Amino acid sequence: MFETLPTLVPDPILGLVAECKRDNNPNKIDLSVGVYKDESNHTPVMAAVREAQIRYLESETSKVYQPPGGTENFIGKVNELIFGESHPALKDNRIATVQATGGCASLHLAAKLIMRANPDAKVWLSDPSWPNHFPLLSSTGINIELYPYYDSESHSVSFDKMVSTLENAGAGDLVLIHASCHNPCGADLTKEQWRILTELAQKNGFVPFIDMAYQGFGLSLDDDAYGIRYMSEHLPEVVVCNSFSKNFGLYRERAGSLSVVVSDAQQTPTVMNQALNVARGIYSMPPAHGAALVETVLSNPDLRDMWHSEVNAMRERIVAMRSALADGIAALGCDRDFSFIKQQFGMFSFLGLTETQVDRLKTDYSVYIIKSSRISVAGINPGNLPYLCRAVSEVVKL
Ligand code: PMP
Repeated sequence: MFETLPTLVPDPILGLVAECKRDNNPNKIDLSVGVYKDESNHTPVMAAVREAQIRYLESETSKVYQPPGGTENFIGKVNELIFGESHPALKDNRIATVQATGGCASLHLAAKLIMRANPDAKVWLSDPSWPNHFPLLSSTGINIELYPYYDSESHSVSFDKMVSTLENAGAGDLVLIHASCHNPCGADLTKEQWRILTELAQKNGFVPFIDMAYQGFGLSLDDDAYGIRYMSEHLPEVVVCNSFSKNFGLYRERAGSLSVVVSDAQQTPTVMNQALNVARGIYSMPPAHGAALVETVLSNPDLRDMWHSEVNAMRERIVAMRSALADGIAALGCDRDFSFIKQQFGMFSFLGLTETQVDRLKTDYSVYIIKSSRISVAGINPGNLPYLCRAVSEVVKL
């Protein structure tokens, strides 16, 4: 039977990572994959997480299933982290939150839940968006539309075009918005723009579907959740997918959550129960370890403070590398202006290179970036920065 299956085209990012590994150039730089790296090009276990792990392992007495939606304490802490401690929707008990196995599972659960509520639902994705949004959502049968998001001339959000396209999104539609640190373009909405989109949702009736995978990597833990908090205060319904892969460095542990803000507290248990029923049909019970580490960090003031400082340091490193890259290229007398990199947020930016220039970066300099010219800024460090600046300024000359 399985001989009928065709081989699929390999994932282009994983292909690049493998190619870079095989490259013998000692100056090679891998800016393809979207994981945080420290100054020594390593993705560390965060100190707060390591300490939480020691405490958790000492206190763990059983491996019996945990509650399918996550422990009550985990859900409480996650709600506070995402929505803020005194959010009115939390006080009103209008937020149904369940643990999810990473941001990916959260997005898939959300789409399945939405399809149960409305099989004709449509999700609007930003153009561009994280490529995995499409398979995670469309594999549930949900309809997908695109809205323009990034203006490659100004290197910022093409907000007018976004709004005029979303005028066509109405009741029964969901609009997927990146909470902060847009992947792949790094251009984020301003507070004013979140407020305008909220008014549009009020007027036309679409439901915001917010994906937060980088809380704390943009401006701060609170600022990065501004759009979620504002929309959840002013709109009857909001869907929030959340990942702890980046800000807790828990990638392989698969820790995240799905929250649905509903208009009436009476719907909260039903939505929760439906979401868990969707999960029951896929993986039944979530893994405990990653969520337990998040819960331990967020429940202990000493660990929480340690984690806050670590997230702040990671963000500051990314911001410093953004400036150093833009300034370093400019200092070489390059006539292309890359200062926009300093105005963007999170781990990603498009350099705005042609595919030929991206190819030359790889073949002539062993600098690996994906075809769209998206770079993962966290792959830059003081050691590889001068070489990278020279490589970029050389390839844009031709
Ligand atoms: N959303 C976005 C925008 C992402 O970039 C990612 C991770 N790259 C995710 C969701 C999912 O993250 P994970 O499943 O690893 O938690």
